[in-house]
Amino acid sequence: MTPQFTLPHWYDLHTHFRQDETLPATVKDHVSMQCAGALAMPNTAPPVGKVFEADEVSSYKSIEQYRSEILAASGGVFKEVIVPLYLTQDTTPEMIEKGAAAGVLKACKYYPPHGTTGAEFGAPLDRFMENGVFRALEQAGVTLCIHGEEHGLGPERYFDRAENAEEIFYRDRMPRLVDSFPDLRIVGEHLTTKVGVDFILEAPSHVKANITPQHLMYTVGSLLNGLKYHLYCLPLVKYDEDRAALRAAATATNNTKFFAGTDSAPHTKKTTPCGCAAGCYTGGIAPQLYAQAFEMAGIDLSQKAGQDILENFLCTIGREYYDLPMPEQTFILERSAEDVQPLKIGDQTIIPLPLGMECELPWRIRR
Ligand SMILES: [Zn+2]
Repeated sequence: MTPQFTLPHWYDLHTHFRQDETLPATVKDHVSMQCAGALAMPNTAPPVGKVFEADEVSSYKSIEQYRSEILAASGGVFKEVIVPLYLTQDTTPEMIEKGAAAGVLKACKYYPPHGTTGAEFGAPLDRFMENGVFRALEQAGVTLCIHGEEHGLGPERYFDRAENAEEIFYRDRMPRLVDSFPDLRIVGEHLTTKVGVDFILEAPSHVKANITPQHLMYTVGSLLNGLKYHLYCLPLVKYDEDRAALRAAATATNNTKFFAGTDSAPHTKKTTPCGCAAGCYTGGIAPQLYAQAFEMAGIDLSQKAGQDILENFLCTIGREYYDLPMPEQTFILERSAEDVQPLKIGDQTIIPLPLGMECELPWRIRR
C-alpha cells in the first residue's frame, strides 16, 4: 500500500507574496497546499512600513491594506494572515504601541540593510536597540522576526570556511539582543547554520526559529555544482555540518522551537545580466518537500512516530507560538510523485524549486 497519512491544515509562517498581478495566483498556490493562513513578509514594493492606512508615512503600504488584499485573494480560505511591520528608519515606539493596542500589529521584521531582496529600507540593529522600538515590542508582546545576517561585510567574512554572515550575527548580535531584552519574543527566520541552531536551542523558550525545505535538503555544493540558480536564496545554503544540525533540530522528538516557514518567493525573473534574485519558489508543494526532506533526514514517514514528528514541525509549533486558530480541515499526504508544473501568470513564469533542481517530488497531496 502507498504510505499515506493525514495532517491538519497548516500555516506557512514565513512567505512572500507581491503587491502585483502575481498575488492571486501565488496565494492560490498556498491555498492548494492546504495552508490555513500565512505570515507574509513586508519587503514588497512599496514596503509595508506602516500599520494603519491612515498613518502619515505615505510612501509605505499599510499592514491593514496588504493583509486585507491577501485575505481577499485566498477567497475566504485563510483563517488568519500576519503581516509584520517592516522596521525602517521611520519606525517609532509609538507606532508599535498603537498598532499592538489595536490588535493589528503582531510582528515586526528586521532586515539587515541591503542584505537581501527588498532590504534597502532596513536600518542597523543598533538603531532599534537604542531608539525604544525593541523595548516597545518587548512590552507589547509583539514578535520580532529577524533576518539574522550581519550586513556590510567584505567577501571574506560574508561567506568563507571560517565564518559567514549568519554565524557572525548569531555569535555577536543575538546574545546581546536577548540579554538586553530578555522578554522579547524573537523568531530567527530561515535558519541555515549550526551556530544558529545551537543559539536557538540555548535561548529562552520564547526564542524560536523557522527552517525552509531547501535548507533541510541541500548544501552549497548542490548550488554550485552546475550553478543551480533556482536554489539561490538568502541566507545561502551552507555545509553538510549545518544541514545536519538543521535536520536534527527539525526532526527531534522533543522539538519545541523549530517550525515550518518556507520563505517561498515568486520571482518571475530569477536571473539578470548582473546577478540573481534571491529566493526559491515552493508555493503549492511545501508539505511535500518537507516530507521529502524529513525522509532524507532519516525519518520513517510510514510510521506514526515519524508522522507525528513532521506534524509537530509543520502544523503545531509555529501555530501555537503565534496563537493562531487550530484549523478543522485535514489533508492527506501520500508517497506518490507530484506533478509539478511552472506557474504561468500572463506571459510571466515562476519555476518551482524541484523543476529548477531537475528533481522529482516523491510526495503529493491527495486531491
Ligand atoms: Zn524571506
